[in-house]
Amino acid sequence: MNKVKKYSIRDLKRDFPTDEACAAFIFDALHSRKCSCGGTYSPLKGRRQFQCSKCRYQIAPTAGTIFHKSDTPLSLWFYTLFLFSNAKSGISAKELERQLGVTYKTAWRILNLIRKALPQNTEFLTGDVEIDETHFGGKGDAGKDNKKLKAVMRNKSIIAGAVERGGRVRAKIVPNLEAKTIGKFIDNNVNPITTRLFTDKSRRYESVARGYDRFSVNHSQKEFAVGDIYINTMEAFWSHLKRSIKGTHKVVSKKYLQSYVDGFVWHYNNRHSDSERFSALLGALLPASK
Ligand SMILES: [Zn+2]
Repeated sequence: MNKVKKYSIRDLKRDFPTDEACAAFIFDALHSRKCSCGGTYSPLKGRRQFQCSKCRYQIAPTAGTIFHKSDTPLSLWFYTLFLFSNAKSGISAKELERQLGVTYKTAWRILNLIRKALPQNTEFLTGDVEIDETHFGGKGDAGKDNKKLKAVMRNKSIIAGAVERGGRVRAKIVPNLEAKTIGKFIDNNVNPITTRLFTDKSRRYESVARGYDRFSVNHSQKEFAVGDIYINTMEAFWSHLKRSIKGTHKVVSKKYLQSYVDGFVWHYNNRHSDSERFSALLGALLPASK
């Protein structure tokens, strides 16, 4: 669990040395080399096409994937996946533009397609689960005596989060902090039977987490952890998320925030091995591969 199996640029160059190697990998992830006619598929030189030796049927290996309809060479795509997979704090479109020598628009599009291919799953979290919410983004200053605090808070997004200690995290943008909203988030994401739920002392949990075995820590009384009653794991995720987005991406619009959050959640949930994370990324982008 603690030993991180690395995946370096050398590994990438060994596994995916050329555009042809990338195309072959994609083809094999999604199709069989054996055609139903008895022939065998092989790549057509200089084209992103595979053809059957007997019936001449052609298959574009990238059809239906995020690599399709892109002029960016597959080896650069795979290099981008490598960068994305290894970048714990994310990689910005600006940085990718520099590294690939493509336009900002192309770099942004590639990263957006990758993030969109990594939606959070819906399996229940279980075991010891910490719940917390955070405010994110928005502009402006609350001003003197917090006069503009309401307006500033309105511009922010609210993200609800749940994390298994030592396990997976889930984080979703929610419309508000009402008990009903948070209750729904918990019901949708946390197993009510097999979970010990850890929260802060906020009153909003009183009614919504009723069926759960709940323990709470009182932040307002400067009580941050009592024994194993704490929500530090969730708070650590929030601070990593905020530092990364601020440091790497600078500003993220509300419209795309969830997909950025999805990217960081995916990274967290695949944090134990660099090489497995890279395989998992390829698997997520080529869903037929098992
Ligand atoms: Zn055939």
